[in-house]
Amino acid sequence: MFRIDINAKLRLVFSLLLLFIAAIQLPTASGEPTYSKPKNIIIMFADGTTSSQYEFGRYSSALLRQQSFAVTDVVMTKGQFQLMKTESANYYVTDSAAAASAMSTGYKVNNGVISIAPDGKFPPTLMQVAKLSGKRIGLISTAPIYDASPAAFSVHAQSRRDSESIVNQYLELAPDVLMGGGSDYFLPRSVPGGKRQDSKNVVEAFQGKGYQYINTPAQLNQINSSQVLGLFASEDLDYEIDRKASETPNLSQMLTTSLQVLNKDPKQKNYKGFVLFAENENTDSAGHQNDVAALMRDLWAFDDAVKVALEFQKNNPDTLVIVTGDHETGGFSPTYGRKNLGPAGNANYSNVDIDQLKQIERYTMSLKEFSDQFKAKVRQGSGRAELSAYLSNLLEEGFPGLILDADLREKILTQGQLGPNSNYLPSNILALAIARQTGFYWASSGHTPAPITVAAIGPGSKIFNGFDDNTSFATKLRLLMGQK
Ligand SMILES: [Zn+2]
Repeated sequence: MFRIDINAKLRLVFSLLLLFIAAIQLPTASGEPTYSKPKNIIIMFADGTTSSQYEFGRYSSALLRQQSFAVTDVVMTKGQFQLMKTESANYYVTDSAAAASAMSTGYKVNNGVISIAPDGKFPPTLMQVAKLSGKRIGLISTAPIYDASPAAFSVHAQSRRDSESIVNQYLELAPDVLMGGGSDYFLPRSVPGGKRQDSKNVVEAFQGKGYQYINTPAQLNQINSSQVLGLFASEDLDYEIDRKASETPNLSQMLTTSLQVLNKDPKQKNYKGFVLFAENENTDSAGHQNDVAALMRDLWAFDDAVKVALEFQKNNPDTLVIVTGDHETGGFSPTYGRKNLGPAGNANYSNVDIDQLKQIERYTMSLKEFSDQFKAKVRQGSGRAELSAYLSNLLEEGFPGLILDADLREKILTQGQLGPNSNYLPSNILALAIARQTGFYWASSGHTPAPITVAAIGPGSKIFNGFDDNTSFATKLRLLMGQK
């Protein structure tokens, strides 16, 4: 009995010692703490999204889908959590190009610039460093794949609008997976849907390098190459709320195929894993439009993709999953608005609960789609009565149950303004009607400087904690790849 007791005590002391050693980060010779280095890194990137949007994803997912929301309920709850400030080199409020450049290179750049520092230097991008580390690399997005965020994570350009140059640099960088929208700047103007001035066909150039080219969701299940170019729309992929499954894949489908391609021969000698950047852009676009229903559907779609990443991690434990974004969009601010302009107080407050969510769930059209259709009708030169009837029909079709107050109806019919911080019209006007009825208000149609969340789970995730600058994302990922 006595001997067993001593053994138990020894074991306890030994376990505590191990815990103590694990708790302190052992410094290396250079004095830097060491972190376990993941083989694979999946960066799940929700553009325009931070804690207020994720929290809405969690609440709506729980009440309307009876499903957990993996970003908050798994990655944030069980993993590590950090906040980042986002100001760019020249402005307090960043754009996607400057934010992603800082996270990719570790240098602040001016708004609109793709990973070129204000002093004209071209610091290496995250994907270039990943490639130098011998890793396979992939970029997927619901935006055009040459859009600001994936571009800043991989290449350099004086302007985020230098789409031809960005695509040319992709061909040179040769990511093993490149998927999203944006076939327009891969194709010459002579081809339907092509916009390139230089008459190059970059799709054919990729094929010449041995890439398999696909452009339908069905083809995602027919991959027989270790390098894939997938372009599923001429510009952006549709919002989840508008998407036709037979024509456009969602992020989960692109991610599933990308992971298969990147992880094809994990047992191969010298296989060093991969870095994959997977972006949902529609969360940002929904913010600009102040479109709460589209945001909700795309947050769910993003979360479904995070679940795909976590499932991959289960089977490949040497994988780090990071969930982050670049900046907040829209000043998303659900609140208890007054039902009318009478005195404030409980009797006159309209609180957000399941009823408001159910109202939003009935919408079947994005505000962008609504705007496009309405503006097309205006361009036809329709008279006021015809326009008014058209508006009513459109609302009935896409937004059943929505009450459009007379003042806002008038603004839409006369193509009026809402305010200097509302640049997406008439979307933002209809969004205010939705807010009055449901409590889902917005502060702006632009970006805000709300700090961005980084949540991470898996090997190396401990490096993400506290409050830091967005340039620290680049530094930390370099450490995790064993690079400076
Ligand atoms: Zn944006």
